[in-house]
Amino acid sequence: MNKTKPPISLTPAAHQRTLDGGLVAIQDLVRSCMQCGTCTASCPNAFAMDLAPRQVWRLLLYGLTQEVLQSRTFWLCSACYTCTLRCPRGLPLTAAMAALKRLAAAEGDAVNRKKALFYQEFMRNVEQNGRIQEMGFMCSYFLAMHNPMLPLEYTPLGLKLLGKGKLHLGGGAQRGRLGPLFAKVRSMEERP
Ligand code: SF4
Ligand code: SF4
Repeated sequence: MNKTKPPISLTPAAHQRTLDGGLVAIQDLVRSCMQCGTCTASCPNAFAMDLAPRQVWRLLLYGLTQEVLQSRTFWLCSACYTCTLRCPRGLPLTAAMAALKRLAAAEGDAVNRKKALFYQEFMRNVEQNGRIQEMGFMCSYFLAMHNPMLPLEYTPLGLKLLGKGKLHLGGGAQRGRLGPLFAKVRSMEERP
């Protein structure tokens, strides 16, 4: 099982340099955006985003990082690659969304930390089970959050999903099947 490394403690100045470096790297990915809006029009999740993908690129290029990091847009990106395939400039937009997730997790405010943990536990569960197993996923998320009241927030949603037969309890034929794929991606990401 992949265990996420504990966060490294940085001085405020070093932390800021890390954030600045991450921002410049993301700006470089979208620098030639011409604001045509094809990415927004193609995105299946745009309806739920508070900033359209096109707006995210523009704000980033203006250096308005906090406006972007406070939005939920990049957390809702499901990495379907449609925008990347359709962008007339050929920009790696899915990679830019993923880089924003990493930047927000490093940025460390409470809201982004919560979202980063949710995303991390979701992906860990998919890696283990070959698909999402909602019960195990939510239990590990609650444990990671160290908040005993949190399950109460999710109880109405859990009951609704249970009533519709949408809660999977674990096990299944797909368990472990995605492990080699995750390991391969991890080794590719670690290459210089
Ligand atoms: S599709 Fe490409 S060029 Fe058009 S707005 Fe999106 S990122 Fe910019
Ligand atoms: S990769 Fe993300 S941002 Fe791009 S179209 Fe898919 S969900 Fe939307």
